[in-house]
Amino acid sequence: MVQQPLADVTLQEGTLRFLEDSPKRLLIGGEWVDAADGSTFDTVNPANGQVLAQVAAAGEADVNRAVAAARRAFDTGAWPKMSGSERGNLLWKIADLIEKYTTELAELETLDNGKPLRVSSKVDVPQAIRHFRYYAGWASKIEGSTIPVSFPNQLVYTVREPVGVVGLIIPWNFPLLMSAWKLAPALACGNTCILKPAEQTPLTALRLGEILIEAGVPAGVVNIVTGYGIPTGAAITSHPGVDKVAFTGSTEVGRKIMQAAASSNLKRVSLELGGKSPNVIFADADVPRAIKGATWAVFSNTGQECTAGSRLFVERSVYDQVVEGLAAEAQKIRVGPGFGSAHLGPLVSQEQLDRVTGYIASGRSGGAQIVTGGERLGGDLADGYFLPPTVFTHENDQLQLVQEEIFGPVVAVAAFDDWDELMARANSTRYGLSAGVWTRDVGRAHRFAQGVKAGTVWINEYGLIDAAAPFGGYKESGFGREMGKDALELYTQVKTVWVNLG
Ligand code: ADP
Repeated sequence: MVQQPLADVTLQEGTLRFLEDSPKRLLIGGEWVDAADGSTFDTVNPANGQVLAQVAAAGEADVNRAVAAARRAFDTGAWPKMSGSERGNLLWKIADLIEKYTTELAELETLDNGKPLRVSSKVDVPQAIRHFRYYAGWASKIEGSTIPVSFPNQLVYTVREPVGVVGLIIPWNFPLLMSAWKLAPALACGNTCILKPAEQTPLTALRLGEILIEAGVPAGVVNIVTGYGIPTGAAITSHPGVDKVAFTGSTEVGRKIMQAAASSNLKRVSLELGGKSPNVIFADADVPRAIKGATWAVFSNTGQECTAGSRLFVERSVYDQVVEGLAAEAQKIRVGPGFGSAHLGPLVSQEQLDRVTGYIASGRSGGAQIVTGGERLGGDLADGYFLPPTVFTHENDQLQLVQEEIFGPVVAVAAFDDWDELMARANSTRYGLSAGVWTRDVGRAHRFAQGVKAGTVWINEYGLIDAAAPFGGYKESGFGREMGKDALELYTQVKTVWVNLG
């Protein structure tokens, strides 16, 4: 693996302007405001550990203000009553502006999250644009139905109405994309929103706030509160004025959110949580292609993806070939700062680095073998949170390394011998977010897709997502489907109207 030195970085003027205007503020009721108690926190560049900006740390009082603004915009404002096509136009305009500011947004994402600029500019920002355009189309197509009932002289119909004020709590691995992923359908359906980005990566959500204002989103329709899980996130999830929370993050926090929803106002909850996805290579696969696919299935975004194919099962007759090939591919990957020519950036924070190295240590002490990687990178990269792609082989599915979500560039590879054993092992974690299979046997590929307990299955590829394709978890990976038409169900509720026709 080649280490990249820290590159000299020339930023867009807009990016510099945004960073210089620090501390960053909260967006509440259409105004940029400081936290009521003046608190701020630092957001750090994970490539060198340096502070990028100070950001307002919202407390309970700020969340109360944001909820009040969102309630006003929903209960008495024009937004929920606006025609779907008008809302659609606005969403399209937001997409156009995101497109206009692609480089700036990509630079901010790379600075704050660490991912390579070519990824933030070619994947994260374009995907965010697609989400707004896709849901711009849906805004005018949210329909009810007429229901034939068994009573005479009755007209029964349904309408789909917005849920109300929705809290959108997102993680740090795809900060702008996750904001779009949640805001676009929520707005298309006529809700008002309180968006809370992760404390590690608040910048692109705040820049998006400026874009929403520029596009003409009415005051109070989108409020953005930055801060930590506790108190900021928790204040949203326990607030009686919030009608729904859509959350993406860890299973542990997902559990807390359900508890907070249950003990406040029974707000609706949708959860997209962790994963420990099985990726399976059969001997009849195009093995070199499967090796490359399996490499990126787990190492993409430095492994910080809930869908990461972090448990690789390989049919025994090609096991040695795959392990060798995977190690070779892993060693070819360039790790370095996002503004260089790196394929992979750093982990997002010191805390995440500690977590992942903790899992590597537990794998070692549990008897798994390291084939490549495993040690933090030093030299020019010593100030950042850089870990190389790490390949473990093992024979024990009960290891923490194999059961728990690591959210880092670490894959656990094991051999399998027969179908029943494979399916039992593939389904043997508490997670069920996604799965992959590599084979030329079309029947076997579909049998795997039927048998695996996962919300998304990829056959002879891995990791694709699209605004039009529903996405979400089985088991403790969560519930509710985001993206596609299914997301409209998360952000609307059905009203049934009975009419006596006399
Ligand atoms: P990760 O473990 O990947 O950092 P988390 O699940 O901890 O992910 O965080 C995802 C999001 O949830 C972040 O925006 C974080 O601030 C928020 N969060 C963390 N704890 C809570 C909580 N108790 N209530 C509400 N939101 C929370």
